[in-house]
Amino acid sequence: ARPVIAIVGRPNVGKSTIFNRIIGDRLAIVEDKPGVTRDRIYGTGEWTGRAFSVIDTGGIEIEGEDSLLRSVRMQAELAIEEADVIIFMVDAKAGITTADEEVARMLFRSKKPIVVAVNKVDNLQRMDDIYEFYGLGFGDPVALSGAHGMGIGDLLDAAVSKL
Ligand code: GDP
Ligand code: MG
Repeated sequence: ARPVIAIVGRPNVGKSTIFNRIIGDRLAIVEDKPGVTRDRIYGTGEWTGRAFSVIDTGGIEIEGEDSLLRSVRMQAELAIEEADVIIFMVDAKAGITTADEEVARMLFRSKKPIVVAVNKVDNLQRMDDIYEFYGLGFGDPVALSGAHGMGIGDLLDAAVSKL
């Protein structure tokens, strides 16, 4: 089976934007589990000759779950279960939030390889904003702009190197 890369993070950081840029049109069809809608979120990708599956965990809808923090937590749990490498996505404009810290704790305990992806670094002036994300404790963050399609190659280099 292909190795699995999962994208985790709170809503609105840009997970689906990056997921779509990674998979292009290689969306995979999967069957939903009872109580959990998870179609439209699996795709496949390839980078420097390595083929992998990608999961956009933000697209996992848990029936009856209306708490943002609980949803993000369950999505992170699923990613930890299924992924070989986890892309932990955060937002340069917002900085580190409480939900980010919560996800960081879960990911840290999982001992899975993590790549921190700082999205919305839309211009060079914003490069300074990535330094605070070293504080999450997962090493060098990768700067991205999903809007401009910048940094996707660096992100995949980092993720594939940990497979
Ligand atoms: P998700 O909830 O994590 O899946 O986030 P989305 O991919 O749906 O993106 C949330 C919002 O952020 C949308 O309005 C996107 O257009 C916007 N967005 C995504 N990537 C970028 C980026 O690199 N820069 C900026 N400025 N906005 C972005
Ligand atoms: Mg999304």
